[in-house]
Amino acid sequence: MTLMREADVIDLRSDTVTKPTPAMLEAVRNATFGDHGYLEDETTLELEGECANLFSKEAALFLPSGTMANQVALRCHTIPGDEIILEHNYHINYFEAGPTADLAKVYPNVIITNDGILRAEDIEEALFNKSRTKVGSQAKLVCLENTINSCGGRIFPLETMAQVFALTRQAELAVHLDGARILNACAATGIEPSSYACYTDSLTLCFSKGLGAPFGSILIGTRELIEKARRYCKWYGGGMHQSGFMAAAALHALRHHRHQLACDNRHAKYLAELLAGLNLLGIDPAGVETNIVLMDTQQMSVSSTAFSELAKAKGVLLYPWSRTIVRAVTHRDVTHPDIEEAGRRLRDVVGALHERCQ
Ligand SMILES: *Cc1c(COP(=O)(O)O)cnc(C)c1O
Repeated sequence: MTLMREADVIDLRSDTVTKPTPAMLEAVRNATFGDHGYLEDETTLELEGECANLFSKEAALFLPSGTMANQVALRCHTIPGDEIILEHNYHINYFEAGPTADLAKVYPNVIITNDGILRAEDIEEALFNKSRTKVGSQAKLVCLENTINSCGGRIFPLETMAQVFALTRQAELAVHLDGARILNACAATGIEPSSYACYTDSLTLCFSKGLGAPFGSILIGTRELIEKARRYCKWYGGGMHQSGFMAAAALHALRHHRHQLACDNRHAKYLAELLAGLNLLGIDPAGVETNIVLMDTQQMSVSSTAFSELAKAKGVLLYPWSRTIVRAVTHRDVTHPDIEEAGRRLRDVVGALHERCQ
């Protein structure tokens, strides 16, 4: 087997793999070098202000990662022993159960839905299906995710967010939105970021995903919450001092790449269309709403890891998500011809497996 040259490899493992553009690197070169610990870095303050404005909230805090941004948010909304309500597929549960147990030390009341969408009635059930007393764990926070990574980038509908938010006002709960890819949802629906954000008390956004910066996330909320968040960010080791050059890349991504996310969404749909005809990967292009395509390898009797290895040998990198689910994510460094080529190579992989099964 011939090894692929790096240039031939189409990397669809995640949208975190993009390289900075020359214009982004130029913005990095021109960044300021004030110390953000003293709130003296102009570029970082500009980024925080611009994000707060985009989502019509009071304030924002630049953090190293989406995980840290979520964890700082949990810490701000709760005290140890409190309960948070979320869906089992969400990143905060799926990948952050360990950090949540260690850092915020809250009890996750995990709900399983068939589509990843946590509805007001699910939350009501979680709140009232057992008798609650003042000495028991206190439910404080509902966590949502938009788009839903584990559910193939599904968009969490705005109306459902509104219903959840209305319930939480009555029940005195806060709402945190893990919006790592919220701007992919905005690109797909045409709904303004602030329209989603108005049904949250806090939200996060990743610059290192589809926006194409090499680094960073932001937590957005009220001035009071962000004050608190600055303290926990420091506690967790996320105080970054001269963060201007990183903020410059994020700011450039936000200003210049945001409106190109629709293209990534279209590419994912196109990849799904190229593969759907095989009827062997459980793909329905109509279900591809943003930039993620999930493929199910079960019908071919191979594991997701084995399928990913075969795809890698053909020069397509995929992420084995669960036992038989493989994830492909489109991003700004894959072009339309790349998607076409990835489709061809994956059809070859499936073809060879199918023959073997006959
Ligand atoms: C990537 C991601 C995160 C975490 O971001 P990191 O920067 O990798 O820590 C959180 N939530 C969702 C939904 C994500 O996709």
